[in-house]
Amino acid sequence: MRPAWAAIDLAALQHNLDALQQHAKGARILAILKANAYGHGLTRIAQQLDGVDAIGVARLDEALALRNAGVVKPIVLLEGFFAAEQLPILAASGLQPVIHSEYQLLQLEQAEGLVNPLKVWLKVDTGMHRLGVEPEQAVDFYRRLQACPNVQSEPVLMSHFASADRPQTVQNEEQRQAFASIQAQLQAPVSFSNSAALLAAVAEHDDWVRPGLALYGVSPFAEQTGAMLNLKPVMKLQASVISVRSIEAGAGVGYGAAWHAPKATRIAVLAIGYGDGYPRTAPDGTPVFINGRRYPIVGHVSMDMLAVEVGPDSDVEVGDTGQLWGPDLPVEEVARYVGTIAYELLCNVAHRVVLDYD
Ligand code: PLP
Repeated sequence: MRPAWAAIDLAALQHNLDALQQHAKGARILAILKANAYGHGLTRIAQQLDGVDAIGVARLDEALALRNAGVVKPIVLLEGFFAAEQLPILAASGLQPVIHSEYQLLQLEQAEGLVNPLKVWLKVDTGMHRLGVEPEQAVDFYRRLQACPNVQSEPVLMSHFASADRPQTVQNEEQRQAFASIQAQLQAPVSFSNSAALLAAVAEHDDWVRPGLALYGVSPFAEQTGAMLNLKPVMKLQASVISVRSIEAGAGVGYGAAWHAPKATRIAVLAIGYGDGYPRTAPDGTPVFINGRRYPIVGHVSMDMLAVEVGPDSDVEVGDTGQLWGPDLPVEEVARYVGTIAYELLCNVAHRVVLDYD
């Protein structure tokens, strides 16, 4: 019997990559592995993704962890770099920063003695208003990058959709148009699509696509699960039942007695809590899958445990395994109960949850 663990299905990962490659129609794949590969374990997932062209992470530490683990694939830093002192490390480790701001461009232009020029990506803000240079500055920025001796030829021109999970929204069209008018002025490889844009074919003619969530078998769309998109969930988050007890009608369960039994029933306690990344905000009724059926969480989730009402006649017993999300209980559905998105649930899986690869 074990407390909390996550089974990571590497065959499902491969299945999802194959499915996304079909959608990509020849575009190269930059697989997004930031935040510990969305909770699935950075280095192991990177080692497994032989078929991708490059790996994307947010930060330098993540990239260096991959290099230290022997990963030689191109690695893109989605947040770029923060200080000039990082540039020699990027050059020595062959890391590709996304350039999104004037301060980065200046530091690149002023750097001296890099062991080799950097391959870079230029991010344009076409409407997300988070990172990226203004569309009116983009052509000038791109030309300055091309002229910079510290930069390799052919920077990739990229942008990011704010609402690709709603394919029909007008914002997508506005972003597409802003990007297209820059593209028309430059001979540059381009990259626009995240999972949702790739699956819904929101952007066309990408040279590089950048799927994250869909690789892990999870749908970016509110009305669809991964299974509906021919994706297979990679993570199955599980915990053992470590206690089962009968309680009387009216008894309160857990901290603050936030839930009271309307009638006599049985409560199973699973060894997983917010210390494992399972959200404390999961309300009463959030499902857990045990022995082939769903049971509702009751009371507040504790640090190491949560309580499930299994009913007076239940056969659930100590040693049984509960699935918090996975093939039998889509993480997208759990996220809806919790009032968040699947991304957050996956990334929050804590370090102490053992990842079992098969
Ligand atoms: N590209 C960029 C720049 C991102 O920041 C992200 C993730 O947030 C992705 C691609 C991958 O997005 P998704 O997980 O929705 O496919």
